[in-house]
Amino acid sequence: MLREQVSLQALNTFGVAATARWYGEAASPAELAQLLADPRVADLPLLVLGGGSNLLLTRDFDGLVLRYTDDHIRAIARGRDSHLIEVGAGMNWHAFVDWSLAHGYVGLENLALIPGTVGAAPIQNIGAYGVEVERFINAVEVFDRERGCTTIHKHDACGFDYRWSRFKRDGERDRHIVVNVRLRLPRQGELQLDYPGIREELATMGIAAPNARDVFDAVCAIRRRKLPDPAVIGNAGSFFKNPIVAAEIAQALLAKHPGAPTFDAGAGRRKLSAAWLIDQCGLKGYRDGDAGVSAQHALVLVNHGAASGADLWRVAQHVQATVRERFAIELQPEPVVV
Ligand SMILES: Cc1cc2nc3c(=O)[nH]c(=O)nc-3n(C[C@H](O)[C@H](O)[C@H](O)COP(=O)(O)OP(=O)(O)OC[C@H]3O[C@@H](n4cnc5c(N)ncnc54)[C@H](O)[C@@H]3O)c2cc1C
Repeated sequence: MLREQVSLQALNTFGVAATARWYGEAASPAELAQLLADPRVADLPLLVLGGGSNLLLTRDFDGLVLRYTDDHIRAIARGRDSHLIEVGAGMNWHAFVDWSLAHGYVGLENLALIPGTVGAAPIQNIGAYGVEVERFINAVEVFDRERGCTTIHKHDACGFDYRWSRFKRDGERDRHIVVNVRLRLPRQGELQLDYPGIREELATMGIAAPNARDVFDAVCAIRRRKLPDPAVIGNAGSFFKNPIVAAEIAQALLAKHPGAPTFDAGAGRRKLSAAWLIDQCGLKGYRDGDAGVSAQHALVLVNHGAASGADLWRVAQHVQATVRERFAIELQPEPVVV
Protein backbone atom coordinates (compact mmCIF):
# COMPACT_ATOMS: atom_id res chain seq x y z
CA MET A 1 0.00 0.00 0.00
CA LEU A 2 1.28 3.46 -0.86
CA ARG A 3 1.18 6.31 1.64
CA GLU A 4 1.73 9.95 0.77
CA GLN A 5 3.92 12.54 2.56
CA VAL A 6 5.60 10.20 5.06
CA SER A 7 8.19 11.43 7.55
CA LEU A 8 11.55 9.64 7.27
CA GLN A 9 12.95 11.07 10.51
CA ALA A 10 12.53 7.85 12.48
CA LEU A 11 13.73 5.80 9.49
CA ASN A 12 17.30 7.16 9.27
CA THR A 13 19.88 6.81 12.04
CA PHE A 14 21.04 10.43 11.67
CA GLY A 15 17.50 11.29 12.76
CA VAL A 16 17.28 14.13 10.26
CA ALA A 17 13.89 15.42 9.19
CA ALA A 18 12.89 14.62 5.60
CA THR A 19 9.63 13.65 3.94
CA ALA A 20 8.97 11.06 1.27
CA ARG A 21 6.37 12.09 -1.30
CA TRP A 22 5.39 8.40 -1.48
CA TYR A 23 6.28 5.50 0.82
CA GLY A 24 5.57 1.81 0.34
CA GLU A 25 6.60 -1.62 1.65
CA ALA A 26 6.78 -4.94 -0.18
CA ALA A 27 7.35 -8.42 1.20
CA SER A 28 7.81 -10.38 -2.04
CA PRO A 29 9.00 -9.76 -5.61
CA ALA A 30 5.35 -9.93 -6.77
CA GLU A 31 4.34 -7.21 -4.30
CA LEU A 32 7.38 -5.21 -5.38
CA ALA A 33 6.39 -5.44 -9.07
CA GLN A 34 2.85 -4.38 -8.23
CA LEU A 35 4.00 -1.39 -6.17
CA LEU A 36 6.49 -0.19 -8.79
CA ALA A 37 3.86 -0.41 -11.54
CA ASP A 38 1.43 1.83 -9.65
CA PRO A 39 0.81 4.79 -12.00
CA ARG A 40 1.19 7.25 -9.10
CA VAL A 41 4.88 6.31 -8.69
CA ALA A 42 5.90 4.42 -11.83
CA ASP A 43 7.78 7.37 -13.32
CA LEU A 44 9.17 8.89 -10.12
CA PRO A 45 12.68 8.54 -8.66
CA LEU A 46 13.13 5.58 -6.32
CA LEU A 47 15.00 5.30 -3.03
CA VAL A 48 15.30 1.84 -1.49
CA LEU A 49 15.57 2.09 2.26
CA GLY A 50 16.85 -0.56 4.63
CA GLY A 51 17.58 0.51 8.20
CA GLY A 52 18.61 4.00 7.06
CA SER A 53 22.00 3.61 8.77
CA ASN A 54 24.18 4.44 5.78
CA LEU A 55 22.29 7.32 4.33
CA LEU A 56 22.34 11.10 4.58
CA LEU A 57 19.07 12.70 3.51
CA THR A 58 19.86 16.31 2.63
CA ARG A 59 16.33 17.13 1.43
CA ASP A 60 12.80 15.78 1.07
CA PHE A 61 12.52 12.92 -1.40
CA ASP A 62 10.24 13.75 -4.32
CA GLY A 63 9.61 10.17 -5.34
CA LEU A 64 8.98 6.70 -3.89
CA VAL A 65 10.80 5.47 -0.79
CA LEU A 66 10.51 1.72 -0.69
CA ARG A 67 11.31 -0.86 1.98
CA TYR A 68 11.59 -4.57 1.29
CA THR A 69 10.50 -6.39 4.42
CA ASP A 70 10.84 -10.14 3.76
CA ASP A 71 13.12 -11.54 6.48
CA HIS A 72 13.08 -15.31 5.98
CA ILE A 73 16.14 -17.49 6.61
CA ARG A 74 16.42 -20.92 4.99
CA ALA A 75 19.15 -23.41 4.18
CA ILE A 76 19.10 -24.14 0.46
CA ALA A 77 22.03 -26.58 0.32
CA ARG A 78 23.90 -28.46 3.04
CA GLY A 79 27.45 -29.54 2.28
CA ARG A 80 29.81 -31.32 4.66
CA ASP A 81 31.85 -28.23 5.54
CA SER A 82 29.46 -25.40 4.80
CA HIS A 83 25.80 -24.64 4.19
CA LEU A 84 24.26 -22.27 1.65
CA ILE A 85 21.84 -20.00 3.49
CA GLU A 86 19.31 -17.69 1.84
CA VAL A 87 18.20 -14.63 3.79
CA GLY A 88 15.46 -12.14 2.93
CA ALA A 89 16.77 -8.61 2.39
CA GLY A 90 14.58 -7.21 5.16
CA MET A 91 16.26 -9.29 7.89
CA ASN A 92 18.18 -7.29 10.50
CA TRP A 93 21.90 -7.89 9.94
CA HIS A 94 22.96 -8.20 13.57
CA ALA A 95 20.05 -10.55 14.34
CA PHE A 96 21.18 -12.71 11.41
CA VAL A 97 24.79 -12.81 12.69
CA ASP A 98 23.45 -13.87 16.09
CA TRP A 99 21.26 -16.52 14.41
CA SER A 100 24.27 -17.86 12.44
CA LEU A 101 26.30 -18.41 15.60
CA ALA A 102 23.36 -19.94 17.45
CA HIS A 103 23.02 -22.44 14.57
CA GLY A 104 26.67 -23.49 14.65
CA TYR A 105 28.10 -21.45 11.77
CA VAL A 106 31.42 -19.63 12.00
CA GLY A 107 32.67 -16.52 10.22
CA LEU A 108 30.28 -13.62 10.70
CA GLU A 109 31.25 -12.91 14.32
CA ASN A 110 33.57 -9.98 13.43
CA LEU A 111 30.63 -8.31 11.67
CA ALA A 112 28.47 -8.21 14.80
CA LEU A 113 26.49 -5.10 15.71
CA ILE A 114 26.65 -3.44 12.29
CA PRO A 115 23.25 -1.73 12.03
CA GLY A 116 20.93 -2.19 9.07
CA THR A 117 19.53 -4.97 6.95
CA VAL A 118 20.88 -8.05 5.20
CA GLY A 119 19.77 -6.55 1.86
CA ALA A 120 22.07 -3.55 2.32
CA ALA A 121 25.09 -5.65 3.37
CA PRO A 122 26.28 -6.39 -0.19
CA ILE A 123 25.60 -2.83 -1.39
CA GLN A 124 28.73 -1.44 0.21
CA ASN A 125 30.27 -4.81 1.07
CA ILE A 126 30.10 -4.17 4.82
CA GLY A 127 33.24 -4.83 6.76
CA ALA A 128 34.66 -4.60 10.25
CA TYR A 129 37.52 -5.98 12.33
CA GLY A 130 39.40 -7.40 9.36
CA VAL A 131 36.46 -9.17 7.66
CA GLU A 132 34.29 -8.15 4.69
CA VAL A 133 30.92 -9.75 4.00
CA GLU A 134 31.84 -10.59 0.37
CA ARG A 135 33.93 -13.48 1.73
CA PHE A 136 30.66 -15.26 2.58
CA ILE A 137 28.39 -14.04 -0.20
CA ASN A 138 27.61 -16.70 -2.77
CA ALA A 139 25.03 -14.71 -4.73
CA VAL A 140 22.72 -11.72 -4.54
CA GLU A 141 19.18 -11.99 -5.87
CA VAL A 142 17.73 -8.72 -7.08
CA PHE A 143 14.53 -7.46 -8.60
CA ASP A 144 15.74 -5.90 -11.85
CA ARG A 145 13.49 -2.93 -12.62
CA GLU A 146 14.57 -2.80 -16.25
CA ARG A 147 13.63 -6.42 -16.88
CA GLY A 148 10.72 -6.49 -14.43
CA CYS A 149 11.84 -9.79 -12.88
CA THR A 150 14.31 -11.22 -10.36
CA THR A 151 17.83 -12.14 -11.43
CA ILE A 152 20.69 -13.76 -9.54
CA HIS A 153 24.17 -12.22 -9.51
CA LYS A 154 26.83 -14.71 -8.49
CA HIS A 155 29.61 -13.38 -6.27
CA ASP A 156 32.04 -12.62 -9.09
CA ALA A 157 29.44 -10.53 -10.93
CA CYS A 158 28.85 -8.27 -7.93
CA GLY A 159 32.01 -6.14 -8.35
CA PHE A 160 32.87 -6.19 -4.66
CA ASP A 161 35.63 -3.93 -3.43
CA TYR A 162 36.43 -1.94 -0.29
CA ARG A 163 33.02 -0.52 0.80
CA TRP A 164 31.86 -0.94 -2.78
CA SER A 165 29.89 -3.14 -5.16
CA ARG A 166 28.35 -2.75 -8.61
CA PHE A 167 25.01 -2.02 -6.87
CA LYS A 168 26.42 1.34 -5.72
CA ARG A 169 27.23 2.48 -9.25
CA ASP A 170 25.14 5.22 -10.86
CA GLY A 171 22.55 3.60 -13.06
CA GLU A 172 22.72 0.30 -11.16
CA ARG A 173 21.63 1.80 -7.85
CA ASP A 174 18.12 2.57 -9.01
CA ARG A 175 17.85 -0.53 -11.13
CA HIS A 176 18.44 -3.38 -8.69
CA ILE A 177 16.48 -4.01 -5.51
CA VAL A 178 18.07 -6.74 -3.41
CA VAL A 179 15.45 -9.29 -2.38
CA ASN A 180 17.61 -12.19 -1.10
CA VAL A 181 21.25 -12.70 -0.19
CA ARG A 182 22.81 -16.17 -0.34
CA LEU A 183 25.71 -16.75 2.02
CA ARG A 184 27.94 -19.79 2.20
CA LEU A 185 28.57 -20.26 5.91
CA PRO A 186 31.28 -22.61 7.16
CA ARG A 187 30.55 -25.10 9.94
CA GLN A 188 34.11 -24.67 11.16
CA GLY A 189 36.77 -22.11 10.47
CA GLU A 190 39.64 -20.12 11.75
CA LEU A 191 38.77 -17.13 13.89
CA GLN A 192 40.04 -13.74 12.73
CA LEU A 193 41.71 -12.27 15.80
CA ASP A 194 44.44 -10.13 14.25
CA TYR A 195 42.59 -6.83 14.05
CA PRO A 196 43.87 -4.46 16.77
CA GLY A 197 41.87 -4.69 19.97
CA ILE A 198 40.24 -8.11 19.62
CA ARG A 199 42.87 -10.19 21.45
CA GLU A 200 43.15 -7.50 24.14
CA GLU A 201 39.36 -7.51 24.65
CA LEU A 202 39.32 -11.32 24.86
CA ALA A 203 42.15 -11.18 27.42
CA THR A 204 40.17 -8.64 29.47
CA MET A 205 37.22 -11.04 29.31
CA GLY A 206 39.56 -13.74 30.70
CA ILE A 207 39.24 -15.93 27.59
CA ALA A 208 42.38 -17.73 26.41
CA ALA A 209 40.85 -20.16 23.90
CA PRO A 210 37.98 -18.23 22.28
CA ASN A 211 35.16 -19.63 20.18
CA ALA A 212 33.14 -17.66 17.62
CA ARG A 213 30.60 -16.54 20.23
CA ASP A 214 33.41 -15.14 22.40
CA VAL A 215 34.70 -13.11 19.42
CA PHE A 216 31.13 -11.88 18.77
CA ASP A 217 30.90 -10.76 22.43
CA ALA A 218 34.33 -9.07 22.24
CA VAL A 219 33.44 -7.21 19.03
CA CYS A 220 30.11 -6.06 20.55
CA ALA A 221 31.90 -4.82 23.68
CA ILE A 222 34.51 -2.87 21.68
CA ARG A 223 31.89 -1.35 19.37
CA ARG A 224 29.61 -0.33 22.27
CA ARG A 225 32.56 1.42 23.90
CA LYS A 226 34.03 3.08 20.80
CA LEU A 227 31.10 4.06 18.59
CA PRO A 228 28.38 6.55 19.45
CA ASP A 229 25.00 4.79 19.67
CA PRO A 230 22.50 6.19 17.10
CA ALA A 231 19.73 5.68 19.68
CA VAL A 232 21.52 8.28 21.85
CA ILE A 233 23.06 10.58 19.23
CA GLY A 234 22.17 10.50 15.53
CA ASN A 235 24.95 9.17 13.26
CA ALA A 236 25.65 6.82 10.36
CA GLY A 237 28.83 5.19 11.64
CA SER A 238 32.02 6.04 9.72
CA PHE A 239 31.24 8.95 7.44
CA PHE A 240 34.41 8.74 5.35
CA LYS A 241 36.16 5.80 3.72
CA ASN A 242 39.79 5.21 4.53
CA PRO A 243 41.64 6.65 1.50
CA ILE A 244 43.57 4.16 -0.62
CA VAL A 245 46.61 5.85 -2.16
CA ALA A 246 49.76 5.04 -4.15
CA ALA A 247 52.63 3.81 -1.98
CA GLU A 248 54.66 7.00 -2.75
CA ILE A 249 51.92 9.19 -1.26
CA ALA A 250 51.86 7.08 1.90
CA GLN A 251 55.67 7.28 2.09
CA ALA A 252 55.59 11.07 1.75
CA LEU A 253 53.02 11.22 4.56
CA LEU A 254 55.15 8.95 6.77
CA ALA A 255 58.25 11.07 6.12
CA LYS A 256 56.46 14.07 7.64
CA HIS A 257 54.37 12.15 10.20
CA PRO A 258 56.15 8.95 11.23
CA GLY A 259 53.20 7.99 13.47
CA ALA A 260 50.60 8.00 10.69
CA PRO A 261 48.86 4.61 10.48
CA THR A 262 49.04 3.00 7.02
CA PHE A 263 47.99 -0.48 5.93
CA ASP A 264 48.68 -2.68 2.94
CA ALA A 265 45.89 -2.36 0.35
CA GLY A 266 47.36 -4.67 -2.31
CA ALA A 267 48.75 -3.83 -5.76
CA GLY A 268 51.41 -1.51 -4.33
CA ARG A 269 48.82 0.68 -2.66
CA ARG A 270 48.36 1.73 0.98
CA LYS A 271 45.25 2.45 3.00
CA LEU A 272 45.40 5.52 5.24
CA SER A 273 43.34 6.13 8.35
CA ALA A 274 40.69 8.79 7.66
CA ALA A 275 40.12 9.09 11.43
CA TRP A 276 43.81 9.91 11.95
CA LEU A 277 43.78 12.55 9.19
CA ILE A 278 40.67 14.22 10.64
CA ASP A 279 42.03 14.06 14.17
CA GLN A 280 45.33 15.66 13.04
CA CYS A 281 43.32 18.59 11.64
CA GLY A 282 41.90 19.15 15.13
CA LEU A 283 38.38 18.38 13.96
CA LYS A 284 37.45 15.71 16.51
CA GLY A 285 34.55 17.26 18.45
CA TYR A 286 34.15 20.08 15.85
CA ARG A 287 30.67 21.52 15.93
CA ASP A 288 28.65 23.81 13.66
CA GLY A 289 25.27 24.29 15.33
CA ASP A 290 23.77 20.86 15.92
CA ALA A 291 25.92 19.15 13.28
CA GLY A 292 29.41 18.04 14.15
CA VAL A 293 32.22 15.51 14.32
CA SER A 294 31.90 13.08 17.23
CA ALA A 295 34.18 13.84 20.17
CA GLN A 296 34.33 10.05 20.67
CA HIS A 297 35.39 9.04 17.14
CA ALA A 298 36.77 11.42 14.48
CA LEU A 299 35.28 9.41 11.62
CA VAL A 300 31.70 9.77 12.79
CA LEU A 301 29.52 12.79 12.04
CA VAL A 302 26.80 13.38 14.61
CA ASN A 303 23.47 15.13 14.91
CA HIS A 304 23.42 16.77 18.34
CA GLY A 305 19.68 17.35 18.09
CA ALA A 306 18.06 19.39 15.37
CA ALA A 307 20.67 19.32 12.58
CA SER A 308 19.30 18.99 9.07
CA GLY A 309 20.85 16.75 6.46
CA ALA A 310 22.13 19.89 4.72
CA ASP A 311 23.83 21.01 8.00
CA LEU A 312 25.58 17.64 8.27
CA TRP A 313 26.62 17.75 4.63
CA ARG A 314 28.13 21.21 5.24
CA VAL A 315 30.19 19.78 8.11
CA ALA A 316 31.23 16.85 5.90
CA GLN A 317 32.42 19.26 3.22
CA HIS A 318 34.30 21.32 5.81
CA VAL A 319 36.10 18.16 6.98
CA GLN A 320 36.92 17.22 3.36
CA ALA A 321 38.25 20.71 2.59
CA THR A 322 40.37 20.88 5.77
CA VAL A 323 41.96 17.47 5.15
CA ARG A 324 42.54 18.35 1.48
CA GLU A 325 44.24 21.60 2.40
CA ARG A 326 46.46 20.08 5.09
CA PHE A 327 47.36 16.73 3.47
CA ALA A 328 46.28 17.03 -0.20
CA ILE A 329 44.21 13.88 0.30
CA GLU A 330 40.59 13.55 -0.80
CA LEU A 331 38.15 11.94 1.64
CA GLN A 332 35.18 10.16 0.08
CA PRO A 333 31.90 9.80 1.96
CA GLU A 334 30.92 6.24 2.83
CA PRO A 335 27.14 6.73 3.19
CA VAL A 336 24.89 7.39 0.25
CA VAL A 337 24.16 11.13 0.16
CA VAL A 338 20.65 11.79 -1.16
C1 LIG B 1 26.76 3.12 14.51
C2 LIG B 1 27.02 2.61 13.13
C3 LIG B 1 28.08 1.75 12.91
C4 LIG B 1 28.35 1.26 11.62
N1 LIG B 1 29.40 0.41 11.45
C5 LIG B 1 29.66 -0.09 10.23
C6 LIG B 1 30.76 -1.00 10.04
O1 LIG B 1 31.47 -1.36 10.97
N2 LIG B 1 30.99 -1.46 8.78
C7 LIG B 1 30.21 -1.09 7.72
O2 LIG B 1 30.49 -1.57 6.62
N3 LIG B 1 29.17 -0.25 7.88
C8 LIG B 1 28.87 0.26 9.10
N4 LIG B 1 27.83 1.13 9.26
C9 LIG B 1 27.04 1.52 8.08
C10 LIG B 1 25.73 0.69 7.90
O3 LIG B 1 25.35 0.07 9.08
C11 LIG B 1 25.89 -0.36 6.82
O4 LIG B 1 26.32 0.20 5.61
C12 LIG B 1 24.58 -1.12 6.56
O5 LIG B 1 24.78 -2.17 5.66
C13 LIG B 1 23.47 -0.22 6.04
O6 LIG B 1 22.27 -0.95 6.10
P1 LIG B 1 20.87 -0.26 6.04
O7 LIG B 1 19.85 -1.34 5.91
O8 LIG B 1 20.69 0.68 7.16
O9 LIG B 1 20.98 0.53 4.65
P2 LIG B 1 20.41 1.98 4.30
O10 LIG B 1 21.16 3.01 5.03
O11 LIG B 1 18.93 1.99 4.42
O12 LIG B 1 20.80 2.05 2.76
C14 LIG B 1 22.15 2.17 2.36
C15 LIG B 1 22.22 2.04 0.84
O13 LIG B 1 21.82 0.74 0.46
C16 LIG B 1 20.70 0.79 -0.40
N5 LIG B 1 19.82 -0.33 -0.05
C17 LIG B 1 19.36 -0.69 1.18
N6 LIG B 1 18.63 -1.80 1.09
C18 LIG B 1 18.62 -2.16 -0.22
C19 LIG B 1 18.02 -3.21 -0.97
N7 LIG B 1 17.26 -4.16 -0.39
N8 LIG B 1 18.21 -3.24 -2.30
C20 LIG B 1 18.95 -2.29 -2.92
N9 LIG B 1 19.54 -1.27 -2.28
C21 LIG B 1 19.38 -1.22 -0.95
C22 LIG B 1 20.04 2.14 -0.14
O14 LIG B 1 19.29 2.57 -1.25
C23 LIG B 1 21.26 2.99 0.11
O15 LIG B 1 21.84 3.35 -1.11
C24 LIG B 1 27.53 1.63 10.53
C25 LIG B 1 26.44 2.50 10.76
C26 LIG B 1 26.19 2.97 12.04
C27 LIG B 1 25.01 3.89 12.26
